[in-house]
Amino acid sequence: MYINGKHVESIGGGWFPVYDPSTEEIIAEVPDSREADVDRAAKAARTAFDSGEWPATTAQQRGRLLFKLADRIRNEAGKLAELEARNCGKPIVEAEMDIADTATCFEYYGGLATKVLGHVNPVPDNALSLSLREPVGVAGQIIPWNYPLLMSAWKLAPALAAGCTCILKPAEQTPLTALEMTERLDEIGFPPGVVNVISGFGESAGAPLVRHPDVDKIAFTGSAAVGKIILRNAAESIKRVTLELGGKSPNIFFSDADFEAAIDGALFGVFINQGEVCSAGSRILVERPIYRKFVEALAEKAKTIKLGAPLDRETKMGPLVSKEQYERVREYQEIGKREAKLLAGGGRASSFSKGYYVEPTIFADVDNGTRIAREEVFGPVAAVIPFDGEADAVRIANDSPYGLAAAVWSRDIFRALRVVKSVRAGIVWVNHMQPTYVEAPWGGYKQSGFGRELGPWGIEEYLETKQVYINLNEQPIAWY
Ligand code: ADP
Ligand code: MG
Repeated sequence: MYINGKHVESIGGGWFPVYDPSTEEIIAEVPDSREADVDRAAKAARTAFDSGEWPATTAQQRGRLLFKLADRIRNEAGKLAELEARNCGKPIVEAEMDIADTATCFEYYGGLATKVLGHVNPVPDNALSLSLREPVGVAGQIIPWNYPLLMSAWKLAPALAAGCTCILKPAEQTPLTALEMTERLDEIGFPPGVVNVISGFGESAGAPLVRHPDVDKIAFTGSAAVGKIILRNAAESIKRVTLELGGKSPNIFFSDADFEAAIDGALFGVFINQGEVCSAGSRILVERPIYRKFVEALAEKAKTIKLGAPLDRETKMGPLVSKEQYERVREYQEIGKREAKLLAGGGRASSFSKGYYVEPTIFADVDNGTRIAREEVFGPVAAVIPFDGEADAVRIANDSPYGLAAAVWSRDIFRALRVVKSVRAGIVWVNHMQPTYVEAPWGGYKQSGFGRELGPWGIEEYLETKQVYINLNEQPIAWY
């Protein structure tokens, strides 16, 4: 792993295996960092933030470093995409898009570094009142396994542009691309301690990072359950926290939607990246008049989705990321069979003798109160729910503890926009689901977390605001 500009092993000497989920074979071993390693990384990041080269860098210099990193990632995109696909099980074609988005994210924040603006406050006295923007300090960043390198960029890029130093902890299942990226940081010119990447597990490496007194801010993407633990652990030192948690996002189809586009949109919305997507459209809400025809077409088309090896360019869905996730999804398939009507899939993908492959699974006639409609599965399991009219659609859509994303499909612009306004979610798509751009804000309402990533919103989360009052009155204070 990478601490203070050096590649190091863990202090305790432990290692843990990393798997290829399509073969179930070990493809790497990485250091198992514990509290002492977290402490070492936090000290390095603290020192790099407080002294030396980094606090003296200009925004232009930080921007150029991010451009260089983006270039290196683009130049090695093929190799990184392959590593990502092998480690996550995701289709190579999707991994290539992730790597391209990763480079774009570093570029975007490289450009934004020089656009952080302060403010002049119109106070009523003979004074100049300013607001200065300053980096929040040492950022601890904990990310999930579904988009490993892209999530690294979503975290590192705005933090570095702002002038923070970082300790990134990739998910234990998928640390390889983030570690690979560290090979280039020294050469690009990041001073030691500015970026640290530690491999380790949630409780033994993530939790000490959240509790560490030298860490000023925690940015987390992951499950709501862990988000709650992080909030509690961050309370002790009043850390700044941003959380991007799960979802149970409604994908809403009105009768007047383009039917073919709707079927594709429903499947793409929930099965892209094997359904291992926080914004997955896992609740498919369909208006009653088209409901029967819709579920039949959905079931028919779901059967044509090509499952295969991650490195096969024809593959649309690979294996799930890990044995643990496979078992979790299999359990939800069984829960669904007890709660609703199985329409497609429902089990292990039987044509594979190895690997964590499950069938894309669709349940119909789902009641919004059931577990498969309320709990995040984080896998290819969809719940189709009928509704009667706009008010009913909005009621069901909002009847969820989550509020990350939603989509609405209709050719009636007035209705589509009314639904956009009524849905309590941080991201709403109309006649599409999932496109994500670095220029636009990303984050959730309700138990999907708080704070926004991407765009100018993303850098805000790594900035403090300092109020400065400059007295222009050269007289003694009229108090005595
Ligand atoms: P999943 O359930 O899919 O594993 P998690 O929310 O558990 O998703 O994991 C997301 C990230 O959070 C991973 O990097 C994981 O190591 C980390 N993590 C898990 N538990 C904790 C914890 N108690 N404190 C800090 N980080 C944690
Ligand atoms: Mg976990």
